[in-house]
Amino acid sequence: MRPAGPLLVLLLAAGPAGAWEGGPHRIMTRAALASLPAARLAAFGSELNALAETYCMLPDYYAAMLHYGFRAPRPAPQSLDEAVPYCLRPDREPVHSAAWDRRDDLASLLFLYERILDALRHRRPAEAARYAGVLAHFLEDSLSPPHVVGQPPDVHAALEKRIPPLSLAGRSPRLAGAGVVPAAEAILNRLYAAADINRGNMPALLQAHARKDQNAIAALCFEPARAAAELVADSLYTLLEFAAR
Ligand SMILES: [Zn+2]
Repeated sequence: MRPAGPLLVLLLAAGPAGAWEGGPHRIMTRAALASLPAARLAAFGSELNALAETYCMLPDYYAAMLHYGFRAPRPAPQSLDEAVPYCLRPDREPVHSAAWDRRDDLASLLFLYERILDALRHRRPAEAARYAGVLAHFLEDSLSPPHVVGQPPDVHAALEKRIPPLSLAGRSPRLAGAGVVPAAEAILNRLYAAADINRGNMPALLQAHARKDQNAIAALCFEPARAAAELVADSLYTLLEFAAR
């Protein structure tokens, strides 16, 4: 799902941003990474910080490069040619956030899972971290509340800036499945279930927006943000475990 042009312009005006603004993506990604075993995270080498700071924004950077000539901060890819392998599937469909079509979304997850695993197994940490950043963005954007039901840009933007401090401390990451395909299917099922909860909470979120109740908005955005961070954590944990076998 590509961000609408006017929305992207609006968000870029405040700095490179996307469905969630950059800050929330970084908060969710950092929370996910912090919950993984250090011995496994070592497979990302010196790219770990770039994953949480820059690569988790790659799909937004790609869209902004494509439409507005945006120059992404290093070490993100600096040209469309360099960004395409991470942000477009071989069938040229963009990998950004869920399309809410199971076949399509499973194709996106498998595209990312297979490339992350291959890069980890062949000790290409920069490539693994870039694909992992796109995976994080995909899962996080998909659980951004306004993404599950279309909202006007002003509401959309207002609802995505809010995310309270987030931590998965005390939670152990879980193997998502016994192999790449079952793991991707299980993560997709969890993503769809969390999106259903988002849909149910949308009336309350819109009411909070109407009365400008920022605390209520933040509270309603907390659970989807935590769910997204858990999906990122379990996806990466599973792939890091597979790569270590
Ligand atoms: Zn995005």
